[in-house]
Amino acid sequence: MHFIDLQAQQNLIRDKIEENIKKVLNHGKYIMGPEVYELEKRLAEYVEVNNAIACSSGTDALLLALMAYDVGPGDVIFTTPFTFIATAEVISLLGATPVFVDIDPETYNIDPDKLEQAIKALKSNDSSVHPLPITHHPSPMIPKGIIAVDLFGLPADYDNINKIAKENGLFVIEDGAQSFGAEYKGKKTGSLADICCTSFFPAKPLGGYGDGGMCFTNNKEKAQKIQSLLVHGKGTEKYDNVRTGINGRLDTIQAAILLAKFDIFPNEVQLRNQLAQNYTDSLKDLSPITCPAIPDDYSSTWAQYSLLSENETARISIQKQLKDNDIPTAIYYPKSLHQQTAFHYLGYNNGDFPVSEDISKKIFSIPMHPYLDAKSQNTITEAIKAYANRHK
Ligand SMILES: *Cc1c(COP(=O)(O)O)cnc(C)c1O
Repeated sequence: MHFIDLQAQQNLIRDKIEENIKKVLNHGKYIMGPEVYELEKRLAEYVEVNNAIACSSGTDALLLALMAYDVGPGDVIFTTPFTFIATAEVISLLGATPVFVDIDPETYNIDPDKLEQAIKALKSNDSSVHPLPITHHPSPMIPKGIIAVDLFGLPADYDNINKIAKENGLFVIEDGAQSFGAEYKGKKTGSLADICCTSFFPAKPLGGYGDGGMCFTNNKEKAQKIQSLLVHGKGTEKYDNVRTGINGRLDTIQAAILLAKFDIFPNEVQLRNQLAQNYTDSLKDLSPITCPAIPDDYSSTWAQYSLLSENETARISIQKQLKDNDIPTAIYYPKSLHQQTAFHYLGYNNGDFPVSEDISKKIFSIPMHPYLDAKSQNTITEAIKAYANRHK
């Protein structure tokens, strides 16, 4: 059994993919070819924002978004410790400081109440209010922005996050690397913050056959700045450089592949939701296993379907049992970011973000993709039920 089945998807659209790649081979515009602009246009329409800017990865999308706000040394960006390393890595890379804020125990996304406390603690330089990192800059740290993450495909609580941001003069970036296609109160992810970033890494809900990403924004000035930043800070033309940027373009051939995949994407989001619903119908109320909770007026794109076990030992035992039944599982994320070696320099301690630490010991993900057949679904839910019945 596959954890994610990209081959089943390819079998459906192989002809279209080959046709699209052939077009690129024929016109030969491998950099910034027409497919890149077509993809930007179609995804901007889908998300309902004015500007979509294709780039080389989800990580670079986040980096470009921060660069568009001139983030640098002395600046603070608030974010969650329960995410993929890229979310916080880009903050450090620019010399700014990530200030971690614990997650909500039900959604696993940044907790707005704790975000408010973190901002207060930083402004009063009082780490008894909320854990703060060690300062590596002589001058006081300046709160600049927030990166909220839509973990496993579920949007964060943007009404509250945007309100807190506004009250404190901060910008908000949506890390929607896992949530393309999801909705929050009738609006698509990609439209929920000042700049929204997504990823086309092959395993993401909309994935290419290589790296890729996109920034979405209704802010025209930021859109133009990102367009410049991703071509070495170009001005009016390529050899006029008005700022330092990066080589952050999306390959035309990836755009061509993504266009073929986007044709079936809305249907795939539905299939993912059906699978999630089937899982939840079978596994809810199955103590000691906890199913994911989707708040009212939210929808997920189910990058992962993640269950909670009782504790670390129980997780080892259930994962082994599933493996013995040929069912692959994965752990996102076994370590919170404040516990990663890369972030030791921030001086955080174990226990600083108890919810994130607790969830990382209990969580595991089961196979999730649009083409998981009914028989496999049944094998998975029966194996989990058998485990639960023995451990009541
Ligand atoms: C995958 C991912 C990224 C990075 O995307 P890449 O395209 O792999 O660079 C960033 N944030 C989150 C939450 C992710 O899951």
